[in-house]
Amino acid sequence: MSRLSDPCDAPLEDVVRKAADQLSSGKPAEYIMGRAAFLGLQLHVGPGVFVPRPETETLVLLAEQGIPTMRSSEATVLDVCSGSGAIGLALASRLPGIRCIGLDSDAICISCAEASAQEAHLEQRVRFVRANVLSSWNRAVEDLEGHLDLVVSNPPYVREERLAEACLSSPCEPVQALYGGPSGLSFYRRIVAQAHDFLRPGGTLLLEIDDGLEDHILELFSKYGMEDGHWQPDFQGLPRYAGAHRAR
Ligand code: GLN
Repeated sequence: MSRLSDPCDAPLEDVVRKAADQLSSGKPAEYIMGRAAFLGLQLHVGPGVFVPRPETETLVLLAEQGIPTMRSSEATVLDVCSGSGAIGLALASRLPGIRCIGLDSDAICISCAEASAQEAHLEQRVRFVRANVLSSWNRAVEDLEGHLDLVVSNPPYVREERLAEACLSSPCEPVQALYGGPSGLSFYRRIVAQAHDFLRPGGTLLLEIDDGLEDHILELFSKYGMEDGHWQPDFQGLPRYAGAHRAR
């Protein structure tokens, strides 16, 4: 057994010193390890990939617990702005009947997500498609229109006035994974508009949101004919999740 007071051999000391320097310059520990823990999975992450956050684990649990068909049937899920693939992979690992498609515009994210799917033996049920989520999804996932049980998304939602603070607290993560346009709503406008047509009647839209956006999101739900719009707080009590259904 080794003790903290034991001298360590030179190469290990170099590794530890290098990691300490990287951490103090703001590099996430997950980039140094190459892995992020998320609901029992060890996901591949690295520079260019947003590190999944604990509040997004709650989004997965809300999807799992709040949507009865997810547990009983072969539900089909679309994860928009899938990044590391965390949401779709976690859902598929917990719900053996479902299949999931992740959409993301970034090639590095897609390859990390595919590596994680392979490692977790989920590649038969979870696939990732590179596409600009702000344009029409039709070309990427045309066959799914009107068939989805769940559209889920944690899109970039940091608004202009909060961007400097967000970049200070995560200086090494890609700003395009955070910035949601001047009011933080750019992605939601597109996602809510398209989700309505891609969901089956009665299907669910579930979003992670920033606090202060909740009223705007509920307005978007009404504007696009989504029913039962509501929001829920995170573990700090801040509005963090919003959901609605397509009419039956
Ligand atoms: N919650 C994230 C943060 O920590 C922002 C995530 C997002 O924009 N989707 O900065």
